This record gives sequence, structure tokens and C-alpha cells, in this order.
Amino acid sequence: MRLLVVGGGGREHAICWALRREDPDADLYCAPGNPGTTSLATNLPIRADDLDRLADAADMHGIDLTVVGPEVPLALGLADRLRAEGRAVFGPSAAAASIEASKAFAKEVMAVARVPTAESRTFRDLGQALAYVDRHPEPVVVKASGLAAGKGAVVCPTRREAREAVRVMLDSGAFGAAGSTVVVEAFLEGEEISVLAVTDGSDVELLPVSQDHKRLLEGDTGPNTGGMGAYSPVSVGTPALLDRVREAILLPTLEEMRRRRTPFTGVLYAGLMVDPSGDPWVVEFNCRLGDPEAQAVLPLVSEGLTDCLWRVSHGERPSPIRLRRAAAVTTVLAARGYPDAPETGATITIPPELPDGVTVFHAGTTRSPPPEGRLQVAGGRVLSVTAVAATFAEAQRRSREGAEAIGFEGKVFRRDVGWREAARRAPTAV
Ligand code: AMP
Repeated sequence: MRLLVVGGGGREHAICWALRREDPDADLYCAPGNPGTTSLATNLPIRADDLDRLADAADMHGIDLTVVGPEVPLALGLADRLRAEGRAVFGPSAAAASIEASKAFAKEVMAVARVPTAESRTFRDLGQALAYVDRHPEPVVVKASGLAAGKGAVVCPTRREAREAVRVMLDSGAFGAAGSTVVVEAFLEGEEISVLAVTDGSDVELLPVSQDHKRLLEGDTGPNTGGMGAYSPVSVGTPALLDRVREAILLPTLEEMRRRRTPFTGVLYAGLMVDPSGDPWVVEFNCRLGDPEAQAVLPLVSEGLTDCLWRVSHGERPSPIRLRRAAAVTTVLAARGYPDAPETGATITIPPELPDGVTVFHAGTTRSPPPEGRLQVAGGRVLSVTAVAATFAEAQRRSREGAEAIGFEGKVFRRDVGWREAARRAPTAV
């Protein structure tokens, strides 16, 4: 099997790792990959958004299956392009990727499919948006409709702040085209979980539930980031809750996407708020695996991932993905200055002996030219340190120890990844 993974972050390193584990003999390529994927795959120096060169590479290497990690190439139509050339792709068409690339579209789909989500209105006109905000109860959530690298949602405690957020998006152009349409919606209270569903457009196979940590600092303080850690499974995600998510959210959404003649195949990622009475509400849909959720979830797969992706990419129903009875915690190591202005260039040392069950996934790393070939910081989120263990507490401890053992100047990480789960499991929490 000749496989191509598109992307170069921690998520794509984890995808390569999971595919390689299932098939030691596969011809695996990663574009562009990173220093971590070099030991698993052949890195191709092609950007994830360079559709022409990716299509050429798929041709040249006779790729049987392309797995697309990030949302941008999907929104640009990479899957359509490769499919038009007769190649199997795991990931949705550009039209179906609109479920992430346009929050206005996602809201419309959910409204028609009667999927529970925050009440909202969509605006392109500043005056109308401001008038709506003025009548809206506080808090108010204002979102740039387009892709904004996770920075497009502003939770505003007051109408005054919401007016400001609307102005920044619609008037100042700070979000570019992504902010030329805004969604103004009600605030949802509760606990967030991520449900990743592998789908052929009709059926779903769920990966274990995970929980991301968006804030930079411990105690969920500091600025929002792409994600500072994740763990899986999450005890809030009971089988009964997941049945409801499947029946009331995932299947109706997929049905509406088929009805619109934009069937969704790939991973439908539902970011959910579980409210205090235990009801799930959609906060957002993504059209791919999450990062860092993938680094926590994929190491829990014991077998069947490649087969499932293969089938779905060939229009067949998703086959069972078998899971280890274990827990995973991943801790992201970020560079000083992340998320606004990460400092790059520091030398990274990863000790040869890490705690048992720990895997380090690369993201913002690079190697200096030979002969030194030093591993260096090259981006905001540098590494993620995943520990898999028999218990959540053990996985949490080992992930933290692994994160502490890795060294680079300016390292920033959270020691409290999984704190909600830890609190639930503590005897005093009952
Ligand atoms: P989004 O870009 O839509 O995923 O939003 C980013 C983050 O903002 C989410 O992960 C939530 O933490 C928060 N958020 C977005 N929408 C809402 C909402 N309606 N109510 C509460 N929090 C929200």
C-alpha cells in the first residue's frame, strides 16, 4: 500500500505513526511532514496547500490512499482534485468542508436538520449585526464565519464587547475574508468534548471521546491557542450520551449534507457542549481530526484504522476500529511568545529514556543543516508528549514527566492537562 499523509503538524505525525504501526511494510509519504515523521515516512517538501504539486506527487509515487490532515487543503479542494484524477482520498470535498470553513453554512445545515446548537443569526451588514447584538442577552458569542485558525470565536461577557468584536470583524477587516460574514450566537454553558466520527457520508464509526485545552496557561487562563493538551477517553462521554450524539447530531447532519448533494466523507469532528443537565449541543463542526486531539486518540487504536479509512475512501461503510482499554494524555510544549509571536531557534533536547508508554509527536520543529543536525524550535506548538497507560492518572503523570524531561529555552506547557477528569475521579469530587 502506498500512502500519502498531507500536513506537517503533530496531528499528521500521529497519523503517520498510527498508519505505520498497522502496516510496517507500507510505502508511507508525508507532505511536508516534519523532523518527527522522517523516521516513519518519506517527507516530501511540498506545502499542504500546494494542490498542484501534491497531485503531481500522488501521481509520481502511485499513491493508493491520501489522508488529508489539515482543513485548509480540504477547503481548497484537494480531495476533489485527487478524486477527479481517480485517486482514493480520506477527507471531504471542498463543498462538504464548508461545514468547517463557513460557520454560517454549518448553522444553516444544523437548523434544517434540527440539530441542537446555540441560537444564532448570520450577518454581513454592520448595522444589522450591531442592532441584533443590542437586543441580545449577555453573554454574546461573536464568530468570524470563515477559517481563522481557531481564533475566530470571541466569547463576550457584555454587549459592549460584542459590539466591538463585530466591528473588528466586519469593519476593520482584521480577520480578512473570514470575517466578512459573522455569526452572532447565544452562549452555551457546560463542559466541552470532542467527538470524532469517521464517516462514509451515511454511517459513523466513533473514535474515543477527547477533551482539548484551548487556553495557554494552567487553570484555563491566558489567551486562546490552537490547543495545549488533550486526553481521552472522557468519562462525560458515556455510551448513552454518544448514542444521543449519533442519533440527534451526527446522523441528521450527514443526512442533510447528502440531501444538499454535498455528502460528507472523512472525519466529522463535533465540538460539543454538554450542558449541566447532560444534553449535548454543537459548538462547531470541523472537517478533519483535531490537533492535539489526534495525538491523544490515535494511540488508543489497537487495530482497524487503516482498513476503516481505506473503506470509507472507497465509498464503503466504516469498518470497526478496535481500541485499547487504556487512557491517553497529551501535553503540548509551546515556544515562549506563543500564540502571538513564538520565539524560534532554541535547541531541543529529548532524552533517550522517557517514561514508559510515552511517544513524542513533532509539530514546530526543524533540523539545522548537517553536520550538526540539531533539533530546533521552528513554530508555536513545538512537540506533543503523549502517554498511554492503564489508568487516566498514570497517563497524566507520565505525560507530565515526559514534558518536564524535554528541554528547550522558553518551553511553555501546562501541568494540568486533564484536570477536569482528575477532579471527577478524586474521591472528594463525588
Ligand atoms: P469555535 O471556533 O466555534 O470552535 O469556538 C472556539 C471556542 O469558543 C469553543 O471551543 C468554545 O470554548 C467557545 N465557544 C464557541 N461558541 C460558544 C458558545 N456558543 N457558547 C460558549 N462557548 C463557545
